[in-house]
Amino acid sequence: MIKALVGVIQSYKGRPVTLMEVCGTHTMSIAKIGLKHILPDNIRIVSGPGCPVCVTHQNYIESALLLAQSAKICTFGDLMRVPAAQGTLAAANDVEMVYAPMDAVQVALANPEKEVVFLSIGFETTTPAVALAVLRARELGLQNLTFLTANKTMPAVMEALLSAPDLQVDGLIYPGHVAAIAGTEFFDALSRKHKIPGVVAGFDAAQVLVGICTLLEMIQAPTWGAANIYKAVVKAEGNPKAQEIVRQVFEPVDAYWRGFGMIAQSGLGLRTKFAQFDAAKKFAPILQGMKQFEEPIGCLCGEVLKGKVAPRDCGLFGVACTPQNPVGACMVSSEGSCAAEYRYGGVL
Ligand code: SF4
Repeated sequence: MIKALVGVIQSYKGRPVTLMEVCGTHTMSIAKIGLKHILPDNIRIVSGPGCPVCVTHQNYIESALLLAQSAKICTFGDLMRVPAAQGTLAAANDVEMVYAPMDAVQVALANPEKEVVFLSIGFETTTPAVALAVLRARELGLQNLTFLTANKTMPAVMEALLSAPDLQVDGLIYPGHVAAIAGTEFFDALSRKHKIPGVVAGFDAAQVLVGICTLLEMIQAPTWGAANIYKAVVKAEGNPKAQEIVRQVFEPVDAYWRGFGMIAQSGLGLRTKFAQFDAAKKFAPILQGMKQFEEPIGCLCGEVLKGKVAPRDCGLFGVACTPQNPVGACMVSSEGSCAAEYRYGGVL
């Protein structure tokens, strides 16, 4: 089946097209199966703003480093190695890597004498688990656990991306796990509005290849909207229970994105009734007046995240910036485009 799908893609004779995958997991699976090496010249695949660590703004990392001077930090592993002006979280005093937001609750229970801050980033897929951890913290009456939130949602950033006048994307591969939570209606409406075909796909080779074949058919027809080829997991309405848990705890807020700057209502912040768990409020005296930070000089992560340049277009790629000594977030994250290209992209 894989050979047949590759054959269909390689026999594509239509106009040159650029496809964008909007998810770090797709970035990695496309790189891992070597897809870019077998694409014909008239099909190009670029990455979009779907890697949660990569899109997390530099100022957030700097804020976390400031808090690390007076609190125990719990974070997902990738965030620890993102370089910042003040160093990395990996080198900070008291930072513990966790695998799930609920782990931070356990850390807070085990360290009652310490302030514990969970670094809450991620898209629709991750946020329900954070909401559950907040609810659990309230249930337990925890006084020493807060959440530094930079959770993001797909709709506003996709709208910003597709509204850019210089965008050159002919088809979109939408993230199946985001759609599993949020549903497909938004993606469908977005594709129709901007007249760009889309496909909601899973992450193994077969899903990715079927997704590309479907997109090529839709582009040639042409057909607008988002086709769902991940029906075993994704329902049109998403996961209403997860959506309700998130609504209970979070509300839409303006958010800062690496490469995009501030996008109105593109993030999620804790509702007022959960203010006691909001690290930005509890530690406001520490965070207020913090210097604003820019991208490292020469780093093109922002442009990579908008699909405008490929990782190898960055002059630092593979020279000054490697997974061992990353300069930008896209080289750190296990879902980053630069890390994927370095690991699976062939000879440097
Ligand atoms: Fe940023 Fe490194 Fe990628 Fe360049 S190669 S865009 S510095 S992560």
